[in-house]
Amino acid sequence: MKSAPKIAIVGAGPVGSLAALYAAQRGFEVELYELRPDYDAKGRAIYAIDRAGLNERLLDILDSMPNVKLLFNHKLTGADFCTQKAWFERKDCISPDSGRPQEIEISFDLMIGADGAHSAVRYHLMKFSRMDYQQEYIDTLWCEFYLPPRKLSEGEYRETAFRISPNHLHIWPGQDFMFIAIPSEVSPILYPRLT
Ligand SMILES: Cc1cc2nc3c(=O)[nH]c(=O)nc-3n(C[C@H](O)[C@H](O)[C@H](O)COP(=O)(O)OP(=O)(O)OC[C@H]3O[C@@H](n4cnc5c(N)ncnc54)[C@H](O)[C@@H]3O)c2cc1C
Repeated sequence: MKSAPKIAIVGAGPVGSLAALYAAQRGFEVELYELRPDYDAKGRAIYAIDRAGLNERLLDILDSMPNVKLLFNHKLTGADFCTQKAWFERKDCISPDSGRPQEIEISFDLMIGADGAHSAVRYHLMKFSRMDYQQEYIDTLWCEFYLPPRKLSEGEYRETAFRISPNHLHIWPGQDFMFIAIPSEVSPILYPRLT
C-alpha cells in the first residue's frame, strides 16, 4: 500500500503547530521540527494572552497522534527543494569528534516553513525559486511589565485579586508610545517563578 505523503513542518510556534494539526487530521505523515527544546528555551512567555498554554495544548494534541513526529532541538540548516531533502542540526546531540551538533538528512514530499520572522525555510526557498521578499521594521520597541495579583483573604472572589479591572482592555495612549494592560490569568503551574 502506498504510504501517505510526508509533510515536514519547520517551526513549532502557533502557526507550525496548527498547520501540523490540520495536516495530521487529513491523514498526512507529519514531522514537526523545532529548534528549541520542548517549550520556551528561556522559560519566558508574553503574558498578554496565554500563547504558551495554547501552544502547549496544540503540541500535546499532536503528540497523541500516531501519524505525527515531534522533533525538538532540531534546527533547519539547509533544504534542497529539487531533491526534496533537508538538513537539520541536532542541538541535543553533540559529536564527540567535532564538538559540533550532529546533522541529519531527511526527505519530504512537502515542506511548510513556519519558522518565524527570520525563516530559514524562506531563505533556502529563495535560492530555488525566483521570489521577492521584503522585510520592514517599525521604529518601536516594547517592554513588558507584570503586575502581580493581590493576596486574597478568606472568602474573597478570585477576580478581586486583579490590581485593575479584569473585564477591560486598558490603554493609556501617549505621543510616541502607548501603555497597554491586559488582565490575564497566569497559571502558577505554567509560570512557577511568578508565584
Ligand atoms: C513583542 C511581541 C508581542 C506580541 N504580542 C502578541 C499578542 O499579544 N497576541 C498575539 O496574538 N500575537 C502577538 N504577537 C505576535 C505573535 O507572537 C506572532 O504572530 C506569532 O508568534 C507568529 O507565530 P509563528 O508560528 O509564525 O512564529 P513563531 O512564534 O516565531 O514560531 C517560529 C518557531 O520556529 C522555530 N524556528 C526558527 N528557526 C528555526 C529553524 N531554523 N529550524 C527549526 N525551527 C526554527 C522557532 O524556535 C519558533 O518556535 C507578538 C509579537 C511580539 C514580537
